[in-house]
Amino acid sequence: MNNTVYAPWSKPFHIMAKAAGASCNMRCKYCYYLEKDKNFNPNSINKNNMSDDLLKLFVKQYISAQPLNQTVFFTWHGGEALLRPIKFYQKALYFQKKYAFGRKIENSIQTNGVLVNDEWCKFFRDNNFLVGISLDGTEKQHNHYRRMIKGEASFNKVMRAIRLMQKYGVAFNILSTINNYNGNSPIEYYQFLKNIGAKFIQFTPIVERCKKGQLDYTHLEVPVMNADKSQGLLSDYEDIEMATYSITPKQWGNFLCDLFDEWVRKDVGNIFVQMFDTALANWLGYPPGLCIFEETCGHAAIIEHNGDVYSCDHFVYPRYFLGNIKNKPLTLMMQSEKQGDFGLLKKEALTTQCKECIYLFACNGECPKNRFAYSNYGEKGHNYLCSAYYQFWEHISPYMDFMKDCIMKEKHL
Ligand code: SF4
Ligand code: SF4
Repeated sequence: MNNTVYAPWSKPFHIMAKAAGASCNMRCKYCYYLEKDKNFNPNSINKNNMSDDLLKLFVKQYISAQPLNQTVFFTWHGGEALLRPIKFYQKALYFQKKYAFGRKIENSIQTNGVLVNDEWCKFFRDNNFLVGISLDGTEKQHNHYRRMIKGEASFNKVMRAIRLMQKYGVAFNILSTINNYNGNSPIEYYQFLKNIGAKFIQFTPIVERCKKGQLDYTHLEVPVMNADKSQGLLSDYEDIEMATYSITPKQWGNFLCDLFDEWVRKDVGNIFVQMFDTALANWLGYPPGLCIFEETCGHAAIIEHNGDVYSCDHFVYPRYFLGNIKNKPLTLMMQSEKQGDFGLLKKEALTTQCKECIYLFACNGECPKNRFAYSNYGEKGHNYLCSAYYQFWEHISPYMDFMKDCIMKEKHL
């Protein structure tokens, strides 16, 4: 099939690239992506590399599919993205330049930090890469689940990477997963990040389930919610339990509120916490910039190392396979009915409790992957973390209203 010409889509979309597939040099206990390795290369771990030809095809298709006046955002993700050498990313930059045709290009990369060294830092700085580095808090909090393949602690390696990036002036965000362990100590977590000089902080709750008795590494296919709700999958999973490392709604609600209180008193304008920025955007009626709080999904897919494209990073399962870029252009996949339905389902499958919720505008029922609980009306497909979010929205509401008023007044001055 000739893939030379691609009509730009009228709206931008985002594709996260798995340059090294699910391969990783760590074995964090809660990781949802390691197991994807078996989809592609069951007998050969750590051999999931995107070829140069595929890279070229991806860069070309992805750029040409975006509207002409838009910045094109490349996100390199894993597994561990730094398992690919610097020269892989140099080739990506070369192809980006070749196919940009005037569009602005930006790159971000997510890493566990283990392989970050002087060369990587120079490369990131010189090419304006924004680096997301995984750190779960203090040494104790971080090492609890984030371990190397042989079980060694990883904290010192990550801190070394952060110090190096600071030395070289690399732009970076801290990305933390909040689990049953660090979820108990939000202030300790936040204080530590502030002490090491973190300015941009993102965190995400760990919510995973496993079959009873098959602990921890056995992740389940996430629930599928039909718009008519005839097929909540909870019933298929009567024998499931929450994976031990998952955060509870109570922990998550308290974590968000306590951390917000600390931030709003001392750090507004100095420390940027993605969750709070997103909340303010939703209060102001702007796009939140964080998919879990968008009204619909479907704008952010992933491409695996072999060209396979899936609806979302959290839905890399056969039924969410959209095609392979070697024989189907990205635009067609992203415009397909299948992807459209996937995106709309988030809104269409909201429970009555969500539809009636006064915070729907901010929450939008959060991510469909977490909708496996029952609503107050007994409906399946309600968000497991609902009580946490409700507590959080209610708690921040006066502050958000105040900030909104200030911003609106400033705008009209
Ligand atoms: S399914 Fe969840 S993670 Fe995926 S796009 Fe939707 S909200 Fe985001
Ligand atoms: S707080 Fe709960 S009820 Fe309200 S929109 Fe979020 S998930 Fe739905």
